[in-house]
Amino acid sequence: MSSIGDYVDSPLMENEEHIATTSVAPSGEDISAHLPSSKRKNRSQAWNHFTEVPNSCQMAKCHYCGHLIKFKDGTSAMIMHLKRCKEHPDNQEHKRQKTQNEELGVVSSPHSTFDQEACRLELVKMFVGAELPFRFVENVFFRNFVNALQPQFDIPSRTTLRRAIWSLFDAERERLKIFISKHCGRVCLTTDTWTSIQNLSYMSLTAHFVDKNWNLHKRILNFCQITSHTGEFMAKEVETCLNAWELNRVFSITVDNASSNDVGIKFMKKWMNARNCLLLNGEYIHMRCCAHILSLIVKEGLKDEDISIIRIRKAVKCGN
Ligand SMILES: [Zn+2]
Repeated sequence: MSSIGDYVDSPLMENEEHIATTSVAPSGEDISAHLPSSKRKNRSQAWNHFTEVPNSCQMAKCHYCGHLIKFKDGTSAMIMHLKRCKEHPDNQEHKRQKTQNEELGVVSSPHSTFDQEACRLELVKMFVGAELPFRFVENVFFRNFVNALQPQFDIPSRTTLRRAIWSLFDAERERLKIFISKHCGRVCLTTDTWTSIQNLSYMSLTAHFVDKNWNLHKRILNFCQITSHTGEFMAKEVETCLNAWELNRVFSITVDNASSNDVGIKFMKKWMNARNCLLLNGEYIHMRCCAHILSLIVKEGLKDEDISIIRIRKAVKCGN
């Protein structure tokens, strides 16, 4: 199948010009367009995509979308239509790429010319979003790729990149602080602790809230290293985090069904009540994570079938 670009430089287009020079009537009028289509020897390639509609005063019908185009003054209107036709396979490929970009959330750049700062910001966002290690910025293949795209782009070193990520983090934190203060009534907190393979403990604090337009939001407020898993310590960490966010409008706190969390919630309830920022004196503040409870139930239930499960696993392994 010919692509749209073929119309521009094809020999048939030259032939079309040839018709124009040889079939001009003494009056100066181009008579080739008035000839019955069967008598025209040389036709534009555009006709591969159109059919002349009989008895229609020179109308041609697009093969893809059925649109009718007048071809009285030559085929330029038809060629123009092919470039725009939404059903043309070549245009559909373009459309498919556009749709795919939209689905992936690709932001089309508002900058038509090269902008060092805008490119650097996108680079920083890429390292954060794709969780790439800082050293990747110094990877020779990555550098070659960026150079091929835009030789003018000054690729930062890993230390500059790290600084840029910190500045972006600070800016985004301030932005979120303002957003929470303006749009959020009360937050539902979720917190959990986790120990990494290096035996370091971390605590995450997530806020869920509904804005003025009833849209549900989820934001990770903190992900920090901790030195103890005790309930009291956890409560103190949550207090520090919430103070940093200037947030005391808490609706509920969802935690795992561990006994240390019961202690933690007691401490949190105490200081929140002291500030008078809880609903119903925090009677319903403690939420137990359903997924964790379900996981405990399943684990407990499967204990009885442990031997059978081990045998099935072995059988599957041998089968592979
Ligand atoms: Zn069409």
